[in-house]
Amino acid sequence: MRGPERLQALVHTVPDFPAPGVLFRDLSPLLADSASFAHAIELLADQAITAGPLPDLIAGMEARGFIFGAALAAHLGTGFVPLRKAGKLPPPVIATDYTLEYGTARLEMSALAVQPGQRVLLVDDLLATGGTALAGAQLLRHAGATVTEALFVIALDDLGGHAALLDQGITTTALLA
Ligand code: 5GP
Repeated sequence: MRGPERLQALVHTVPDFPAPGVLFRDLSPLLADSASFAHAIELLADQAITAGPLPDLIAGMEARGFIFGAALAAHLGTGFVPLRKAGKLPPPVIATDYTLEYGTARLEMSALAVQPGQRVLLVDDLLATGGTALAGAQLLRHAGATVTEALFVIALDDLGGHAALLDQGITTTALLA
């Protein structure tokens, strides 16, 4: 088994986590397999290179977006920006509120991380409805960044994330469905 098939085999699907009716994709086995983790980063790098000129920065969504985003940034030689849940970063921060299935959440980034006009590539482990990635893009744009591409290890195609991001001018690519 090679390439994406090997990666797919290392995604553990867990029913009813974290809530009844949810089918959770756990990437822990993929991360723990050295060759597969490295391969996932190489495939993400290929996608980033194919998408056009290298970005100035990669932004990763807390928390699993940090793992893939930071490794990809080091691989490509770009900087990395963590987009964090509320209250984790010291000031100065920029924040955006966004809607979840139940209630709202706040995403924050350091106001010192991004310069206006920088091109930022968004990275996360999984795309579902696109709400999290859209909040990240909104935050980065608020800081003056240009965001036109987002990369994921997995995209759940039937949950509308691709369309939601495209609607905001962001093209999405994923390694696995
Ligand atoms: P969305 O905002 O697109 O609906 O959900 C994506 C966000 O929720 C991502 O930050 C992702 O890490 C997390 N997420 C949602 N469902 C899953 C899942 O089944 N597996 C993993 N690993 N993350 C998930």
